[in-house]
Amino acid sequence: MPGVRVRFAPSPTGFFHVGSARTALFNWFVARQDPDGVFLLRIEDTDLERNKEEWVDGIIAAMHWLGLDPDEGPFRQTDNARHHENALSQLRGAEYLYFCDCTADDVTARKGDNKTPGYDGFCRERLLSRGERTALRFRTPHTGSTVVHDEIRGDVEFENSALEDFVVARSSGAVLFGLANVVDDRLDRITHVVRGEEHLPNTPKQILLWRALNELNDTKVDIPKYAHLPVLVNEQRKKLSKRRDPVAVEMYRDQGFLPEAFVNFLSLLGWSPRGDQEIVSPRQSIDQFQLKDVSHSSAFFDVKKFTHINGLYIRELSLDEFVDRCAPWVTPWTSSWRAVQEPPWTHEQFNATLFDKAARLAQERVAVLSDIVAMVDFLFLDEAPLDDAAFDKAIRQGDKSRDVLRNARDRFLTVEWTAAALHECVQLIGDELDMVLRKTQAPIR
Ligand code: GLU
Repeated sequence: MPGVRVRFAPSPTGFFHVGSARTALFNWFVARQDPDGVFLLRIEDTDLERNKEEWVDGIIAAMHWLGLDPDEGPFRQTDNARHHENALSQLRGAEYLYFCDCTADDVTARKGDNKTPGYDGFCRERLLSRGERTALRFRTPHTGSTVVHDEIRGDVEFENSALEDFVVARSSGAVLFGLANVVDDRLDRITHVVRGEEHLPNTPKQILLWRALNELNDTKVDIPKYAHLPVLVNEQRKKLSKRRDPVAVEMYRDQGFLPEAFVNFLSLLGWSPRGDQEIVSPRQSIDQFQLKDVSHSSAFFDVKKFTHINGLYIRELSLDEFVDRCAPWVTPWTSSWRAVQEPPWTHEQFNATLFDKAARLAQERVAVLSDIVAMVDFLFLDEAPLDDAAFDKAIRQGDKSRDVLRNARDRFLTVEWTAAALHECVQLIGDELDMVLRKTQAPIR
């Protein structure tokens, strides 16, 4: 038996979306469960207007950062253009396709009050020949149904009469995603298509294409198993949006989320390991993951939970490792990867001995690695930058902040300079002013 072959097939049209990262990861789990399994990366770059090379680099770099390097690829969909063309002419020769010169306005005008979505089949029997404005549409059957056997959702049945005659090639000749994707999956001998839920409505159309191509070719390729992963939602239970929500993997990397914490958090989006444990290693996920256990319902991308998990991973690092991991934010001149935010100190101002001492304390407190900058800046700068919002909250709005500071100034002159004694002293100041410890500490900090 040949091993499983899965692919991650992103379109390079923007930052690397956290939902794409989850899709890549779940594909990777499936591949790694099989000693002969292959995880392949295919960049679906046929939409030339929306693609950019920098997004391709972003995808490859982010996957590498997450430890999800492909076994095969990266391949480019555009490299298969010849095969797409071939499939197109085969389908055309067998009259699976027909030319259509309708514009979207034509279709709307013909429909009038009829609200049935999709194309109305106007050109289906017109037998147009190729013209300047003719797209190619697939003739979907009018009767029967097409069933998608989905590993997660079970059988999903689509009435063929409700499937519109969809466009497979534009008037420019450009082959569209639906067909290119099927041709590539056939060439790559993909056994499992694991992708986002938004592609479920495309799947019956792709199955029709797949069957047609099997019929027209001597080599019959098995239709892959499908699995459509649940959509990711925000706190308001709305689908994550590029505009509203922080969805770029790069952004989390820049803030100092650890890749291993990210992988842990992503594994919990729509799936959970035995015992619902929150901390799960890739090894455990690979051992336990099954597509059939993935949830049907949307998964909450809970940044608070992610931050919490990240904190747990940071505390688990050895001190040396923690210092190393902080390098992009603290000593960028020693780091091959540079965070977007440069530290406010120069190489000359930085003092490694002091930093190493402070790092032990900071490791207990930071939620993300970039937090460390504001915790240690006063060690290297004559005047540490003031966080206005925090200053406002602690000093201007605190009605007893002056009393706290006056008291602290006087007592700190004589108190024994140890953490325990200072702590007790601050507690005392708070007790006298009838304040909780947290509020007493704020202005002093
Ligand atoms: N290129 C498609 C996308 O980025 C993926 C299609 C697929 O996985 O089949 O949404």
